[in-house]
Amino acid sequence: MPALARAQFGSNAKDRYLLFLERVDTGEFAAQPFTLDGKTLYWAGYKKLCAILRDEHVPPEMGFVQINVRTIEALWAVQSYLRRDGVGSPIMVHSGYRTPQTNAQIEGAARLSYHMWGKAVDFHVPGVPLDYLAGVCEACPASGGVGYYPDGWVHMDTGPKRIWVG
Ligand SMILES: [Zn+2]
Repeated sequence: MPALARAQFGSNAKDRYLLFLERVDTGEFAAQPFTLDGKTLYWAGYKKLCAILRDEHVPPEMGFVQINVRTIEALWAVQSYLRRDGVGSPIMVHSGYRTPQTNAQIEGAARLSYHMWGKAVDFHVPGVPLDYLAGVCEACPASGGVGYYPDGWVHMDTGPKRIWVG
């Protein structure tokens, strides 16, 4: 795991690897660890996090997929950093996995978006300015692309390193 992701949080394994996600549109949330030992997946928690990151525009059998683990790790690393700064808010998810159909319907979305591989998430964190959040994402060793959208969210993926303003 990358250096930032190895940073400790909490007194026990469940707290240490906890990721707190909430879906903007539906208010569904999960506060679950994705691993207990930092090496192997904790499936029960991982699946609940993947459910929050599903494509909510299609039936669950199409929209509920396994999200790239490195992407989950990157979200966790960003949230852990904010927690140490005293921010306890969830990561508010605007978009996670997208089926090709959903992606095609989004104006301005990249044709071969990392969202279609479960490797990208659009989000904001209540109380954290977006430009600051984009900076935290960029500094996270596990992140690849970071897009700053002043209208309301930051895009983070685990493709190649690059930054842009949307
Ligand atoms: Zn995005």
